[in-house]
Amino acid sequence: MGAPRYRCDGCGNLTRFDVTTTRRTTAFHHYTVGGELRVEEETVLSHHVDAVSCRWCGHGRSVVELAESEAGRSDVGGPGEQEHQEPGAASRVT
Ligand SMILES: [Zn+2]
Repeated sequence: MGAPRYRCDGCGNLTRFDVTTTRRTTAFHHYTVGGELRVEEETVLSHHVDAVSCRWCGHGRSVVELAESEAGRSDVGGPGEQEHQEPGAASRVT
């Protein structure tokens, strides 16, 4: 969440974009003794959208960013804001 929405005025596309972003993150790289890596506690230090191009038009000249007021502002920036949801976790027993 917190990602902006886009719209291509050229073709009306709302759902297919190639988004080029620059992300600086810091993360805890947790290796097993076998050398297997698990990346944990990833924190986004900075996030910048470099380019957005419409998948159908092949360019981003008609792409506009939708006003965030509709989607409701939700700034990512609080500590502990991580995506660690495990779908299918057996939390409910009937
Ligand atoms: Zn388009």
